Amino acid sequence: MIIILFGPPGCGKGTQAKILSNTIDIVHLSTGDMLREAVQLRTDTGKLAEKIMEKGALVSDEIVAKIIHEKIVKKDCNNGFILDGFPRTLKQAQILDDILHATKRKINHVIEFGVNDSELVNRIIGRFTCKKCGTGYNDITSLPVVNNVCDKCGSKVFIRRKDDNSETAKNRIEAYHHETETLLPYYEKKNLLVSINALAAIQEVTKQIISIVKK
Ligand code: AMP
Repeated sequence: MIIILFGPPGCGKGTQAKILSNTIDIVHLSTGDMLREAVQLRTDTGKLAEKIMEKGALVSDEIVAKIIHEKIVKKDCNNGFILDGFPRTLKQAQILDDILHATKRKINHVIEFGVNDSELVNRIIGRFTCKKCGTGYNDITSLPVVNNVCDKCGSKVFIRRKDDNSETAKNRIEAYHHETETLLPYYEKKNLLVSINALAAIQEVTKQIISIVKK
């Protein structure tokens, strides 16, 4: 099964992708995570992407297409995968179609996360992650049960993304409206698009997604 989680930054795609990946046992592919890893490893791709990501703009289609292609053709994606943060432009959507066509596969669902812009910046700047196990938290929506202690692994070290500040968040939301949202009619025409209410509680959003993918 191939699922695209579609929506602006801060809408909860990453959180739901992780839950879904564990629930239905398919690979989670986040281009944002791949690029952050490249930046950390100081690869050529990482060096090219770093400044662009800091500004909240989109990295070039060529770079993103290359890193996603490398992952999609791997064996662990044979059963399908969840795309989180890709495609973000029409060109990327076309590249994805070409890769899938060449490997005789098809997208099953494109799930649009419906949220208000006013919620997004606060959600983005509230995000933080356990450095040890990667569990995600939010100052507004999901704090650890015990203050400053990870619910999952007990670690007390948390990290915040460099681009989760209000100025970059605003640019990222703008990039979504200008470049990514224009993809919605593309998937609507292909009869793949379903919208959900992503402002509901995390478990509620998961339920909506599961009911779509189990159909
Ligand atoms: P994300 O973690 O999905 O919010 O992505 C973080 C940043 O990585 C974005 O603001 C972009 O700069 C870059 N990025 C991630 N995915 C893509 C993509 N598909 N196309 C272009 N840039 C991307």
